[in-house]
Amino acid sequence: MIITVAIDGPAAAGKGTISKAVAAHFGFAHLDTGLLYRAVGAKVRAGADPVAAAQMLDPRDLEDDGLRTPAAAQAASEIAVIAEVRSALVAFQRNFAARDGGAVLDGRDIGTVICPDAPVKLFVTASAECRAERRFNELVGKGMEITLDQVLADVKIRDARDRNRAEAPLVAADDAVEIDTSDMTIEQAIAAAIEAVRSALGIC
Ligand code: C5P
Repeated sequence: MIITVAIDGPAAAGKGTISKAVAAHFGFAHLDTGLLYRAVGAKVRAGADPVAAAQMLDPRDLEDDGLRTPAAAQAASEIAVIAEVRSALVAFQRNFAARDGGAVLDGRDIGTVICPDAPVKLFVTASAECRAERRFNELVGKGMEITLDQVLADVKIRDARDRNRAEAPLVAADDAVEIDTSDMTIEQAIAAAIEAVRSALGIC
């Protein structure tokens, strides 16, 4: 059975945690599509051509822990504006979405471009300040030396680049269910997402 759950939203809104929890709850596979862009960004930083790096991306490239840094996130958003990079990554994402047994994909353009016919679309958002604080706590927890102001500035730069680019900008699909997690605990956000998926799939 092919069921695609598309989860989009801005940086650090909780998409990753929610997507993993939704996938585990329904027994679906999960793809964090941000990793594709981060992996291409990392190769470009190491000197590769962006389009060639996207065309030759290997799933094993996604397993690098170094992709989780703020520098990797900025590099990802810089190469994500290139139309040929985006189109080189479409087939991998659509093949993942079409797997038997259900799939959750999270990113920026899943409900609008990659899987416009997905039966379930969520748009997970939160204020920039909330998102920056959560990301700051996560990075400090990993031992990174960074200030809240730096994280907030990074989030705002990335938001602006993702929202204003010509190709597949970050925008909620018309038929997406919006979940604003600003005043929610992570448990509440996960529960709201699971409820929205149930309701969209007609599961009681
Ligand atoms: O989701 P994550 O923060 O890891 O994404 C890193 C960057 O990759 C985003 O800021 C965005 O520019 C890009 N991206 C994208 N489309 C996606 C997923 C990520 O453009 N589907």
